[in-house]
Order: sequence, then structure tokens, then C-alpha cells
Amino acid sequence: MNIILLGPPGAGKGTQAKLIEDRHGMKQLSTGDMLRAAVAAGTETGNKAKAIMDRGELVSDAIVVGIIADRLDAPDVKKGFILDGFPRNTAQAEALDAMLSGKGLKLDAVVEMKVDDEALVERITGRYTCAKCGKGYHDRFQKPEKSGVCDVCGSTDFTRRADDNEKTVRDRLAVYNKQTAPLVAYYGGRGTLKSIDGMADISEVTRQIEDVLKGV
Ligand code: ADP
Ligand code: ADP
Ligand code: ZN
Repeated sequence: MNIILLGPPGAGKGTQAKLIEDRHGMKQLSTGDMLRAAVAAGTETGNKAKAIMDRGELVSDAIVVGIIADRLDAPDVKKGFILDGFPRNTAQAEALDAMLSGKGLKLDAVVEMKVDDEALVERITGRYTCAKCGKGYHDRFQKPEKSGVCDVCGSTDFTRRADDNEKTVRDRLAVYNKQTAPLVAYYGGRGTLKSIDGMADISEVTRQIEDVLKGV
């Protein structure tokens, strides 16, 4: 199965993508994670992307389309993929359509996760991840079982993203509403769109996504 998780920053895409990976063996393809890895490694792409990401703007379509095109050819996506953070505008969606038809692949569902803006700000400003294994947490909504210790790997090192501050979040939400929200109509017109209530708690959102996946 091949799906897109579509939703604003902080909607819970990454959280749910990891749970879907565990349950269905599909592969999460997060352009944000891939770009942050490129920034950390100091590659040419990373150096170009860093300032743009810190401002909460979109990096160029050519960069992200190239990244996704490479990943779709890798053997680990054979059981399916979960696109998380891509596409983010109509040009990227059109490039994805062309790529998929060229590779003989299709999209089974586009899951739109709807969350109110104020909840998004609270989710993003409280977000942190394990520095060792990447497990995601939240100051209020997803605490590790033992305070300060990662549930998955036992590490005591955690990181917060440079762009997860209130000012940049508001700018990222404006970018989402202007450039990415039109994709709801784009996919809605093709019948692949399924909208779910992303305001519910994490396990209830998972249940709604499972219902969608059962139906495809
Ligand atoms: P996205 O990938 O869409 O930007 P994340 O999955 O990183 O969003 O979630 C943002 C933050 O909100 C994380 O700290 C996560 O733990 C928390 N979170 C995710 N889903 C929910 C939910 N349904 N209710 C409350 N908090 C959530
Ligand atoms: P979130 O889901 O919290 O908004 P991401 O991790 O998906 O954040 O993205 C972080 C940043 O990486 C974005 O603000 C943007 O600068 C860049 N980025 C990620 N995916 C794309 C994309 N598909 N097109 C352009 N820029 C992207
Ligand atoms: Zn960990």
C-alpha cells in the first residue's frame, strides 16, 4: 500500500507514520527528516536548505522531488511507502504523479489529518525527540515512561528542532495554508482523499487511520 499523510506541521504525521511502519511494514519517507539529515551531514543540499528551513519556508521543489525520486527506487519501499511532508504544493504533487506513473506505482490513499491551529502550536512547541533513536515525545501529550529516559533505547539525550519555536511555527502554518492546503482539493477531486479527526488522542487517530487502510 502507498499512502500520503497530509496535514499541517504538528498534525501527528511523523508519530502515525512510525506506527504504520511498525504495523504494516511500509516505509516512512519524511522529506523533513531527510533534509535534517542532510543539514547535519553538511552536504551541498543540506547547506542550501538550512537557512530556508530555519525560516519555515519551503526548500526548492527540485531538491525534494529529487530526494523522493531516489528513495522510491530503493528496495525498502517494496512493501509500500508513507509519504510524510511531501508533496507540499501543487507542483510537487504533479511531479509525484509523473514519477509514480513512470515507475508503475499508484497511490492508495491520501489521509488528511485535521487539527486546529492553536493545538498545532501547543504540539510543536512541546515536541522533542530522542537524539539516539529518533523516537518522538511531547512535554504533555507523549512523555517517556521514566522521566528523561527514552522508552525505546534507554538514551538520556534528547533534542528539539531549531524551527519548533512559536514564531517559526506561525510562519510554517501560514506557508501550509497558502501552499499545501490546496492539495486537499487536488486529491479530493480524484477520490483518493480521506479526512480524519487529528484532534483526537494518538491511539484514536491510529484507529481512524486503520479504518481508512482497511477500506483500500
Ligand atoms: P508532524 O510530523 O505532523 O509535524 P508529530 O508527529 O511530530 O507531527 O507530532 C507533533 C507533536 O505532537 C509531537 O510531540 C507528538 O508527540 C505530539 N502528538 C502527535 N499526535 C498527537 C495527538 N493525537 N495528540 C496529542 N499530541 C500529539
Ligand atoms: P513539519 O511536519 O513539522 O512541518 P517537516 O519536518 O515536514 O516539518 O519539515 C521541516 C522543514 O523542511 C519545512 O519547514 C521545510 O522548510 C522543509 N521541507 C520538508 N519537506 C518539504 C517539501 N516537501 N518541500 C519543501 N520543503 C520541505
Ligand atoms: Zn531512543
